Amino acid sequence: MDNILQGLNAAQRTAVESPASVVQVLAPPGSGKTKTLTARVAHLIAHRQLQPWNIIVCTFTVKAASEMKERIKSFVGEDLAKQLKLGTFHSVALRYLKHYGQHIGLPKDFGIADTSDSKAILKRIIKKLGMSIEPGQALGRISSRKAKGEVDSKPGKGPKSVDQQEFLRLFEEYEATLAASNLLDYDDLLLRCRFLLKSHPQCVSNVEAVLIDEFQDTNNIQYELMGLFAQQYNRITIVGDPDQSIYGFRSAEIKNLSRMKKQWPDTITINLEENYRSSGAILHAAQNIIEQDESRPPKRLQATHTFGLRPVLRKLPTAYAEAEWLVSEIKRMRALSGNSIQLSDFAVLLRSAALSRAIETALGNTGIPYRMVGGQRFYDRAEVKLVVDYLRVIHQPENSEAVERVVNDPSRSVGDTSIRKLREEAERKGVSLWSVILDISQGRCTTDMKLNEATRKGLASFVNVILSGRKKMESWSTEPPSVTALINVVSQKIGLEAHLRRKHSGDETFEARWSNVEELMAQATEITASGKLNELVESQRLPQVEGLDQTTESAEDVLSVFLANIALTASAEKKAEEDGEKIQQVTISTIHAAKGLEWPVVFIPACYDGSIPHSRADDHDEERRLLYVGMTRAQALLYLSCPIKNTQREETTISAFLTHQGAGRYFDEHGPSLPSSAVASLCTTLRRECPTEACFLETRKTVDSDEDNHWPLNGEEVFAESNRWDSGATGNALPGFGTARHIPTVQ
Ligand code: ATP
Ligand code: MG
Repeated sequence: MDNILQGLNAAQRTAVESPASVVQVLAPPGSGKTKTLTARVAHLIAHRQLQPWNIIVCTFTVKAASEMKERIKSFVGEDLAKQLKLGTFHSVALRYLKHYGQHIGLPKDFGIADTSDSKAILKRIIKKLGMSIEPGQALGRISSRKAKGEVDSKPGKGPKSVDQQEFLRLFEEYEATLAASNLLDYDDLLLRCRFLLKSHPQCVSNVEAVLIDEFQDTNNIQYELMGLFAQQYNRITIVGDPDQSIYGFRSAEIKNLSRMKKQWPDTITINLEENYRSSGAILHAAQNIIEQDESRPPKRLQATHTFGLRPVLRKLPTAYAEAEWLVSEIKRMRALSGNSIQLSDFAVLLRSAALSRAIETALGNTGIPYRMVGGQRFYDRAEVKLVVDYLRVIHQPENSEAVERVVNDPSRSVGDTSIRKLREEAERKGVSLWSVILDISQGRCTTDMKLNEATRKGLASFVNVILSGRKKMESWSTEPPSVTALINVVSQKIGLEAHLRRKHSGDETFEARWSNVEELMAQATEITASGKLNELVESQRLPQVEGLDQTTESAEDVLSVFLANIALTASAEKKAEEDGEKIQQVTISTIHAAKGLEWPVVFIPACYDGSIPHSRADDHDEERRLLYVGMTRAQALLYLSCPIKNTQREETTISAFLTHQGAGRYFDEHGPSLPSSAVASLCTTLRRECPTEACFLETRKTVDSDEDNHWPLNGEEVFAESNRWDSGATGNALPGFGTARHIPTVQ
């Protein structure tokens, strides 16, 4: 535990040890904010005697949360680290709602509507109301309303436009549908938790410290939650960087920083000014981009690494040529390094997920494995969703949305018309869809709905599947609970394998689809066998608070926790993580999902106007910050590129951020690719062996000859700095970047 402060600089140590109650650490990318935050958590436990279960740590992505947990584990050990209340805002809120939701009238077995559930609900309501809005757009509008904390559908003061009236109607119906199905959407998790903590502050009376990473992206409701979590002891640490605020479209409120100072006037602010992540060249190029925003206050940021190679900027004829070039660079670097440079050292970061197709195809064609973060996700794949939906219905038959999705999948002669009749009957009686279906199948329904014989049989077979599942679950009171066994019941009862084989005989995807189902089973088995599920149930338990009952867990909670875990990791970040550990993969991610992370080599393709800045984005400053976030993920090599014609065969113009006055100086725009010696340099930087003769010779050559030096910035101010780094003057400089400066930029 004594190594907590080791390797931290003076400002970082001050932040870790600060006795102040409310601390803001504001600093640029790669300056060690997350490192400092995790060290402070460890310090609070080790030296200030705070109990880990009384500390809440929130971040924005599942991946970031698991990385933080790992870092803290290395300081205080697994036993203490796992007791922290650490996770995304949503997962921490869910934990409180699961345990204390009863006190605000939430039923014990509420389910979570993920984004696609919400869209499906909206699609139906939009049709019913005869509106023309896209479901995704409607959800965005609802979500931003909820994010601002506007929860009811009351029209409020003043006249309303027709559009607003229509929207409020939609909002109202959407909320009613969720309530009828006993579902909360993602925003509800936060809203309900806020309500719970306001009305029952005892729930958090034990919370001694609250720490938030990536604070610049907190929205109104998350900000309020932070204050509510901390209401007893008012001990808060946040770290963030206003230059990396990229969630304006989700109502993140950059003004939360000043709001915090007003709310807690004793707040102290600590700045960090050294960058430990990127080479000097990458940092300068990124700085140049962010400084194009003249309204932004100037900041100091110093590189601790040597200068290295300027980021590459290339134009390729088409998006496909761009993707092939990118893949050939990966292959070349790997080959030259004798595979010392690993696939997991590379990331391709995209402005929008839709850009991934060309890259995926090029990687697929050369057999390079990759993982998608923020794209088509494991839990979004149709066959996985189908099984999970069956589990959801078994867990909670009142979930009419899930019932509706699976009642006719596989086909059971229950078409749209029959479903509409069943829904109408349910609405008329004020009961769930399941209840109507059950009554029909058991001959208790007196209404003549004019369902034909085949439909009735279909409904009976559906009921049989669900009741078999529930029976299996009941057996868990006498035998160990097994989600795998439950999936097997579903799979056998619905004849899943034959169903998928029939459905996908034409598109030859059966094998891949079935292996997804097997993967889900494997995951359920692994998670149960390793005791992880029990651990998860256990770890979600909150400390007992006097005078406030907690819902106690039963065997069925295993399924509930399994499903909640899926809903929250829906992004499959976790799955991708596990894959990444098993096999080496290139990462493809949106820039948004890459925040807080770092890779030795980063590619940002499709840097053209319309893509970044995006054609639908109103706020160009935010688009610029997004590019800045992407560029500052790179440690040693950064490649930006632009296809002359995009996938729609439209001529493009290179992003204005990259052609902005003087920006070109920071990039290497010549030649087809980086010199081979860059690879040797990269290997040295990563402290990996580079055994190939070609690489060795290249390194010798470049170190020996300096005649083809293309550094246009030579002699300028930035170079005064970088020369110092090259001479290895800073203790923190990693070897490698230094020699790279002497490498000719054209091969
Ligand atoms: P971002 O804004 O992108 O989230 P950050 O400020 O959170 O960045 P970290 O991820 O904490 O930065 O740190 C960036 C890298 O620098 C990490 O690899 C980290 O281990 C390293 N690092 C941070 N501080 C130091 C230090 N004092 N000495 C050496 N390495 C450091
Ligand atoms: Mg960070």
